[in-house]
Amino acid sequence: MAHQRPVLADRFFIIEYFAQRSDGRFRRALSWCYNLMGIFKGETDMKREPFEPGMSIWWPACGRLPSDGLMSRLRENNINWIETGIRQKSGSGKFQSHAERLEKIALRFREGGISVWSVHAPFGQEIDISNPKTAGEGIKLNAETIEACRAVGVDKVVIHGSSEPITERERPARIECCIESVQKLYHPDVKIALENLPRTCLGNTTGEMLAILKSLGGKVKCCIDVNHFHSGSIIDMIDALGGYLATVHISDDDGLDEKHWLPGQGVLDWTGILNKLREKGYKGVFMYEVQKQFAKPGLIRANYDMIIKQLPKATV
Ligand SMILES: [Zn+2]
Repeated sequence: MAHQRPVLADRFFIIEYFAQRSDGRFRRALSWCYNLMGIFKGETDMKREPFEPGMSIWWPACGRLPSDGLMSRLRENNINWIETGIRQKSGSGKFQSHAERLEKIALRFREGGISVWSVHAPFGQEIDISNPKTAGEGIKLNAETIEACRAVGVDKVVIHGSSEPITERERPARIECCIESVQKLYHPDVKIALENLPRTCLGNTTGEMLAILKSLGGKVKCCIDVNHFHSGSIIDMIDALGGYLATVHISDDDGLDEKHWLPGQGVLDWTGILNKLREKGYKGVFMYEVQKQFAKPGLIRANYDMIIKQLPKATV
């Protein structure tokens, strides 16, 4: 079937074409309009149902941009939201924010009728914001990523508080450094969502996440990755951090370590998770962050429909 670009997307494309050829004032005005439209779109979309499925799509640092085919598969499966970020690996060279490319990718998705719910900032040992030796570089890259979000009207950025390993002895100093780094990243237009992380990373327990968020005085929110938590019940973590919740990462695991399987393939209690998210008033996107072989719009739509059906009728 031939891809038909939505009418609104055509208009965005024309505006963006001129914006690229104009001065900073026009670009800033455009960004302001996007922010405003984002607010209205968010309000109306989120009233329809408590959750809508979304899909995390990491993108390579160079080469192709999102294709018409990908965007039509997303739309056909009624997956209208994505999280995106630029894929980079520790030890594979110098990390970069790739801010211009990130902006291009976000605009390309929007042109295809897909909204960018959030951006995932780059992470790795070389840019660890909890390590005094690397925090400077980490803050720089995160700040550039946040600026790219602002430029294209994306209002949430997911940030890792650390890399690993972190020993018990160095933990208090690393937490302190992480908090100081995040404070330097505050931005009025882009919400920081600090992610809970597994193993020895910072934020591996409910108590530690809560302590970090409290130290940040409510200015920073959190992203709960339900397959990153193995020191208790993820349902209890959602319960404790619900007031800070800006977004979620959805996938299943084996109860021992992150696996990024599809919900139902592992041991997580999905009815419990969904009910707790509803109870805590989460009305954001149900953002799948699954292994590449599962990150297909058709699979995600089918999985979402399956787990939602298990629930008693929505009360919110
Ligand atoms: Zn993450």
